[in-house]
Amino acid sequence: MATELENSIQYLSGVGPKRAELIRRELGISTIGELIRFYPFRYIDRSGLTRIADVTPDLAYVQVLAQVTHAELNPKRLTVTVADGSGEMDMVFFKGIGWNAKRLVAGERFIFFGKPQLFNGRLNMVHPEVDPPQGGTVPQGTLTGVYASTEKLKNGGVTGKVMCKMMAAALNLCLPEIKESLPEYVIRDKGLVPLTYALRNIHFPKDNYALQKSIHRLKFEELFLLQLSLLKQKFIRSREEKGLYMPKVGPDFNACYNALPYTLTGAQQRVIKEIRADLMSSRQMNRLLQGDVGSGKTMVAVLSCLMAIGNGYQACMMAPTEVLARQHYANICKYLAPTSVRCALLTGTTTQKERRGIHAGLEDGSIGIIVGTHALLEDNVVFHRLGLCVIDEQHRFGVEQRSKLWAKGPGVAPHVLVMTATPIPRTLAMTLYGDLDVSVIDEMPPGRKPIQTLCITPGRVDAMYKFMREEIARGRQVFVVYPMIFTNDKMEDISNVEEGYEEIVKAFPLPDYKVAIVHGQQTPETKEFNMSAFAAGRADILVSTTVIEVGVDVPNASVMVIRSAQRFGLSQLHQLRGRVGRGAQKSYCILVRDYKTSHEAQQRLDLLCRTEDGFEIAEEDMKMRGPGDLEGTQQSGLPISLNIASLARDGLLLNEARIYAQQVLEQDPTLDNPRNAELVRELRKEKYNIRDYSKIS
Ligand code: ADP
Ligand code: MG
Repeated sequence: MATELENSIQYLSGVGPKRAELIRRELGISTIGELIRFYPFRYIDRSGLTRIADVTPDLAYVQVLAQVTHAELNPKRLTVTVADGSGEMDMVFFKGIGWNAKRLVAGERFIFFGKPQLFNGRLNMVHPEVDPPQGGTVPQGTLTGVYASTEKLKNGGVTGKVMCKMMAAALNLCLPEIKESLPEYVIRDKGLVPLTYALRNIHFPKDNYALQKSIHRLKFEELFLLQLSLLKQKFIRSREEKGLYMPKVGPDFNACYNALPYTLTGAQQRVIKEIRADLMSSRQMNRLLQGDVGSGKTMVAVLSCLMAIGNGYQACMMAPTEVLARQHYANICKYLAPTSVRCALLTGTTTQKERRGIHAGLEDGSIGIIVGTHALLEDNVVFHRLGLCVIDEQHRFGVEQRSKLWAKGPGVAPHVLVMTATPIPRTLAMTLYGDLDVSVIDEMPPGRKPIQTLCITPGRVDAMYKFMREEIARGRQVFVVYPMIFTNDKMEDISNVEEGYEEIVKAFPLPDYKVAIVHGQQTPETKEFNMSAFAAGRADILVSTTVIEVGVDVPNASVMVIRSAQRFGLSQLHQLRGRVGRGAQKSYCILVRDYKTSHEAQQRLDLLCRTEDGFEIAEEDMKMRGPGDLEGTQQSGLPISLNIASLARDGLLLNEARIYAQQVLEQDPTLDNPRNAELVRELRKEKYNIRDYSKIS
């Protein structure tokens, strides 16, 4: 039986097939059920009537209750003069002239709502909204919803007023058949208003209190169902997927730990405890470790690997590029010196002979930790007992690649620790990686020198070159980064980085200076070669596009120059800046912005000059640009679209919803209890069928 909710909006009075098609095209709304879930994005307070005597052209919107005194009709325009005893003004219409002339007859009283302006010394309103003094077809509250609209909609006659009328008709039709979407106990526990009340009041608020209660209810519903769907997947998986039981830490862990030249930060200790608890839980660990560049993630990874080894397992650590893998390998070897663990490196350039040795060592278990690139995924890499996979910079790996690695476990999927240096706001992480556990290192090791960040215009580039020469004379190295520009979607236009390279080579000529260049049009080999040359100190300056964003550690680099900085996202700039400040010397980040920079872009750059806190920057970035534009979410695309709640603004509510969803699932993991029937029904909706691309096993 078709319900009103599934009916097309064309059957609503005043809509018809043409408007219905327009609305479908412009707003993606076809059914009445979809229409009532299209909420106003703001409200106009129409609670007060203004006396005409008090109306001035600088008021935004006003509403007057006045009597028509006379109307003047000409072919192009209808001017209706109205008075309310305190004064008079004109209502002007260029469209709907005939219809308005018929109803706005002298002696009748109406409420006029619109933007007042002064024209030829007289106050008027052009195309005001006109309502009879009491009620109409649209419920009369004090607040009027404003719906998102487009030029095409307005031209097609779907004005705000028409939208309100449609909404009123839709609600009248379908409110009686709307089923509550949340179980009764949830509504009670959380003190929510019923769905029908919320829907009525989100469109036609009785008053501000009713509106706030309704917004709260609808946001909670959205976030709660979203978290429920994400966490349900996680609950099911962790019940189904047995994990390797690793109760001990073992002697190698202790040897490494005791020999550390520093004490772990509080954040590192906390995260290691979290990982240890996972490894002892008999369930498979799926943990995302977030921490700013330099926060000490590698250390945590090494200690985690050693826990696996302490229980008779092997560990692997996979990095997205050869340079990064090499770097990890070198660092890890240092940490492993006090232990008896054998570590090896496997990349695309490992020779056949070395490979054979490594393959044998992995198969017989004599190699405890293997560090590498995609080469680790190859079929002939077979482990004796793989217990833990650490993945650096996860977004570079596809799900298929990862699952190849998991299949290398001893019949049971290994534990998984994914590390990323792209701070993602907590609310986003909870949603994007809803089914992963998230650990955060939010504390930097002591003694790190702040990076001095400044923003200049191209006029000061010569002074900057002088400064670069001074730094190079001190034995330091410099990054110069250009934005990646894509011509037709895919092809990277490298002309700006090539021109930049020419300019730099001219300003820093051989034989005194050596300049390397890296960009996306080079072969992976050339890229690696140039990057390694810079990492090894054979070049003073590295000119590049953002390919260097991830990971590369060049402690000797002290200056990061970013050209056309206004073109970058905040998080990306922050990532780039993190490439310097890794050594003992003072470091600098110089943002060169073009003369033509928008106010908004300037704000981003200012924020960067002000703070080095990656999480603060990520939060701000999300507020400024919305979650869909954040790095780390772009490649994947946000898997969800929220109707009313905002990941940027409703963090607290999201947290509450998540905790509550967890409680519900702890009581009833499969939601089989009849009292959760509403939830099962709602989760079937497409909106909550979230593509589980973060699923990593
Ligand atoms: P990340 O991988 O998070 O970018 P690393 O693990 O490479 O960071 O650590 C950055 C630097 O800080 C390394 O030189 C490391 O030895 C050092 N480090 C890590 N933890 C600490 C600590 N608790 N105290 C002092 N230095 C630390
Ligand atoms: Mg690192």
